[in-house]
Amino acid sequence: MEREELLALLSTYLDLQPTYRKDELKTLCPFHAETQPSCYINIEKMIYHCFGCGKAGTVTSMLRDLGVQLDSERTETVSVFEVLSAANDFFRQQLRNRLRDPQDPVFAFLLRTDRLKFVEPFELGYAPPERDALLNALSRFPPELLKQSGLFSDSLYPLLQNRITIPLRDERGRIVAFAGRAISDEQKPKFINTRNTALFQKRAFLAFSYEAVQRFMHQDEPARETSKREEARKKLLYVVEGYFDAMHFLINGVPAVCVMSTNLTLAQVTLLKKLHAQHRKFFKDAEIVLLFDSDPAGIEAAATSIAMLTTLIPPSVLRVQILPQGRDPDQFPISVFDNLKRFDPVSGFIEAICRVKPPPSPERVARALLIFPDEMRKTLSRMLDARRKTLGTAYLRLVFNFLGSLIRRTARRPPSKPFSFDLYTIATAAVIQGKLELDQLGELVDEFPENLRKLLTTPLEQLTRTEQEQYAKLAFMPYSLLPEEIIKALLKASKKRKLLSIIQRLDSASEEELLALSKEFDEALSDFLSLTDQF
Ligand SMILES: [Zn+2]
Repeated sequence: MEREELLALLSTYLDLQPTYRKDELKTLCPFHAETQPSCYINIEKMIYHCFGCGKAGTVTSMLRDLGVQLDSERTETVSVFEVLSAANDFFRQQLRNRLRDPQDPVFAFLLRTDRLKFVEPFELGYAPPERDALLNALSRFPPELLKQSGLFSDSLYPLLQNRITIPLRDERGRIVAFAGRAISDEQKPKFINTRNTALFQKRAFLAFSYEAVQRFMHQDEPARETSKREEARKKLLYVVEGYFDAMHFLINGVPAVCVMSTNLTLAQVTLLKKLHAQHRKFFKDAEIVLLFDSDPAGIEAAATSIAMLTTLIPPSVLRVQILPQGRDPDQFPISVFDNLKRFDPVSGFIEAICRVKPPPSPERVARALLIFPDEMRKTLSRMLDARRKTLGTAYLRLVFNFLGSLIRRTARRPPSKPFSFDLYTIATAAVIQGKLELDQLGELVDEFPENLRKLLTTPLEQLTRTEQEQYAKLAFMPYSLLPEEIIKALLKASKKRKLLSIIQRLDSASEEELLALSKEFDEALSDFLSLTDQF
């Protein structure tokens, strides 16, 4: 499996969160109980280490330990698609019946919210409140298939009742699930989904990606002249929270997908990356646009989304738009978005902070800053500082104070089961962490203990499980010596060893050997002393 597929799979089981390092994610450890994430995953090397319980290894081994079957492909049975498609027909018919009566509450809801226009293009339907209605409509299918469709509970109780239905499609346009929207404010929650199934995992799904692709492939459009403005909109891919927001963009010819919650998962970022690659085949300068709500609560969520996106997608193709306060995206005419400035992620984030009145709490801003990868955070701090005039010196000082204390607090705890911190281990860790070139160690590598030498010179997948575990632990090991100092220290150790071996040989040496040995000894000693001077 590809790296990204593995990560996507992992993120359906674990809540992976960004860290201040771009190549690392963290999560609550699935192997011991904890409330603060201490399990770190390096997504370049595809290894993990839990600083809480000490478990470590490759992502593949982690998935296996979680009981995930890696080799068996998902079984996509045609029949489950048939069930879902038949359900869609039934829901649509139900809605058509309702729309005939102007007094009907379902009709009134769609009219009041200005959503009648979405009914035909997106095949909206209505799930009636009667318990057996859907079951009867699908009576030709065996109960086992009905359960696999995600439409019912185990006791065949329909999950969507008295709700507007929104069919959700896979990348080939086949229905894999439904969302259900309440038709009154009293009905809670506002949205629910059909169950997770083999075809649909909510955390690994982007609603409307099929429809979005159609927009930039121009397939939805009859041959007609498009204006420059309409053409420019097609190079954007909006990422929004709400189903109706996405529909609003799509119906106006603008590609958009819906993430169905505030927190973007890594699996969704993987899908976005694929979508973007496809998008770029049609528009070289395609961009992904995140919509920000400019309220204090939105700031942290926005930071998390940006940090999550930048783990796989370059910031240069990410744009941010900040919505005027107090309204949902689908309440603005589409031309409003043409005129809203598109910021790069860093300036967009700063802009959002400056626009919130009153500004969000300094601690909240510091927490949000903490999520950004290192190099982005540095730019952010600089730009934030440049807005001193708007935000005030006292406010900024508080933000940076919080940031400092948060960074100190989140500094990684040392491993619970320390391994031997000899020089060779430290050097090995430095090479594995990419802070030291193997070449720099040169001949010294021969002196390394065999197990460490193997770690340095063998590809990860050819190591045994225990060796992979050791590799992962070293990859996350904190070490205190600078790479140059490591080399010097190793050289010194090596010279010292040479001296000792000469001294041992001196005792049993013959007359003839003695002369050669003492010369060797002198050279080794002066080598050693010169190193000692430097180090
Ligand atoms: Zn653990």
